[in-house]
Amino acid sequence: MKTIYCLLLLVFVSSALSAQDYSDKITLVIHGGAGTITRASMTPEKEKAYKNVLNEALQAGFKILRDGGTSVKAVEATIRVMEDSPLFNAGKGAVFTNEGKNELDASIMDGKTLKAGAIAGVTTIRNPISTAIAVMEKSEHVMMAGKGAEVFAKQQGEVIVDPSYFYTEARYKALQNAREQEKVELDHDAKEEKKIKKSPKTGAVNQEDLIFTEGKKFGTVGCVALDKNGNLAAGTSTGGMTNKRYGRIGDAPIIGAGTYANNTTCAVSATGHGEFFIRSVVAYDISALMEYKGLSVKDAADEVVMKKLVERGGEGGVIALDRNGNFAMPFNSEGMYRGYIKNDGTSNILIYKD
Ligand code: ASP
Repeated sequence: MKTIYCLLLLVFVSSALSAQDYSDKITLVIHGGAGTITRASMTPEKEKAYKNVLNEALQAGFKILRDGGTSVKAVEATIRVMEDSPLFNAGKGAVFTNEGKNELDASIMDGKTLKAGAIAGVTTIRNPISTAIAVMEKSEHVMMAGKGAEVFAKQQGEVIVDPSYFYTEARYKALQNAREQEKVELDHDAKEEKKIKKSPKTGAVNQEDLIFTEGKKFGTVGCVALDKNGNLAAGTSTGGMTNKRYGRIGDAPIIGAGTYANNTTCAVSATGHGEFFIRSVVAYDISALMEYKGLSVKDAADEVVMKKLVERGGEGGVIALDRNGNFAMPFNSEGMYRGYIKNDGTSNILIYKD
């Protein structure tokens, strides 16, 4: 009899623990790329345009969290908004390869199950983050590349577009400039700046001009989220680097480099010079510092981004969130498009260092 009581008590305690409510901790953090983003290079129109999309992205994900949805779903909804905007180097606004193509990468990780999904080098998938999630949830694999990933996306009912969907004049000019300079560029270069054109009739600003007038930056997008069940998730989506060659893949679709999530530590999404982030296994290193050294999410993220990466010459930043809703958004570049929204709906969008 005693054993039965003990067993019942055990079941009760463990189900109470697993059902712990994190409603007062739900949090969503985003980035839209780091780089040479200074007040001097900004115009009110440009700032407003970026803030509008970042805010729309935050709200899309937060609505899902507030309604009790999962962190994976919230990350997807948030990233899709940024993928559909030409302002960011992901989805619609992806940069061009040396061959004049747009090759997209994305990944997702679920901190509860430690399952992950990623796609790389795809040219026809409108929302790579959704296909990355399909890889995680509906296949036996973690990463799919190129044509195979596109066949899988089609089978899963993802939206397939003609590669020309990803053409934006601004990114194409950035490629031409990079080709001229015969160097691999990171998103776009300040030397290509030009005046923002306004419609003579409506005064509206051409969105593509806004991209073009921006300094060198890494326009990858990412999101980390904590849902009401205490589950963390991280996702990242990118077009990679302007003028990339030979099927180059960056850190964004590599689990542990550009993306990582583990309920026992944190969720991380990175933006920056991918090669450095791969070599430093940035996202996992932040998690490992928390797991093995007991560092806080802030100390761990600072250690990797502000010390290790700086010493190794790697420019960029991360967003990192723990299970208690504590987060950090360190970057070692001039600026990083970033923002957060907390359980009570208070949100903030930041761009510069100060
Ligand atoms: N990390 C990306 C890459 O190297 C670039 C970026 O963050 O914009 O592909």
